[in-house]
Amino acid sequence: MSGEIIVSTWSFGRRGHDAAWGALVDGGSSLDAVEKVCRVAEDDPEIDSVGWGGRPDRDGRMTLDGCIMLDPRQCGSVACVERHRHPVSMARQVMERTDHVMLVGPLADDFANACGMPEEPLLAPSARAAFDARQVGDGGAGGAGAPPIDSPSGALFPDEQRWRHHDTIGTLAIDGRGVLAGACSTSGMAWKVPGRVGDSPIIGHGLYVRPQVGAATGTGTGELVMGECGSFLAVERMAMGDSPTEACVHVLKRILDAGPIESHETVAMLALREDGVWGSASIRPGYRTSVRRHDQDEALEPHVVLLER
Ligand code: ASP
Repeated sequence: MSGEIIVSTWSFGRRGHDAAWGALVDGGSSLDAVEKVCRVAEDDPEIDSVGWGGRPDRDGRMTLDGCIMLDPRQCGSVACVERHRHPVSMARQVMERTDHVMLVGPLADDFANACGMPEEPLLAPSARAAFDARQVGDGGAGGAGAPPIDSPSGALFPDEQRWRHHDTIGTLAIDGRGVLAGACSTSGMAWKVPGRVGDSPIIGHGLYVRPQVGAATGTGTGELVMGECGSFLAVERMAMGDSPTEACVHVLKRILDAGPIESHETVAMLALREDGVWGSASIRPGYRTSVRRHDQDEALEPHVVLLER
């Protein structure tokens, strides 16, 4: 298999694919494509788990995380950003303009200012309303006893059952020159303890790219992914000969083997091999992968689901 491809977590990834595809097939880079896909999600107030439409922390403060990667020597990341709406673009600036990989908190926002990026309000009206509803006991926290997946009426697309309050966008692409790139962006877990950072902006956990092998990303309970270095592990498994789907399944089985998980916890992994073959797997049902290539534009069920519910 060859040619340009973009794969992203969740059906809302298709919105970003629509925005990024034209430039990619016109000779654009996979790096630009993955940044664009994440930026679209970051700007979309309907997406309640990424960017300014995401759910804030326990105290109503929104903090965003993101990263971007071409290879182990070219990657960038920001976490706990509070004044800029596009952590993926901040991460790219870290990658391209500094000798470092990761900047965090208010000093990462200061860095974005120095790069000329505009400060923007981070709590969308929908996010504020969700926080206010939760304060009066109407918001559903996804805590003990909550069902593991949202009702279908909460879906952006009718065939998807989204999980409660955590659905990072992770996106992987190959361009016409065969270059792999990946990016990831999230508002983190809804109602998190202030200061909490999950897997998504951490290279090797929420995203990993090794050019001669492939790339991987994940969505779901970041703490579970971090215990296994999920994306790094998936790429390593592909290097050892696993198919992309087998690599994803390996990571998820490692997570389940490590101990019991709560009913509201889940993880899905997505992997793209350097030849354009991709695969996905999920611990629980409900997850979708968005896929865009020359003859395909759809959101698909995972290749493997490990638990019935
Ligand atoms: N993995 C993200 C985090 O833990 C959230 C998610 O994907 O739902 O921050």
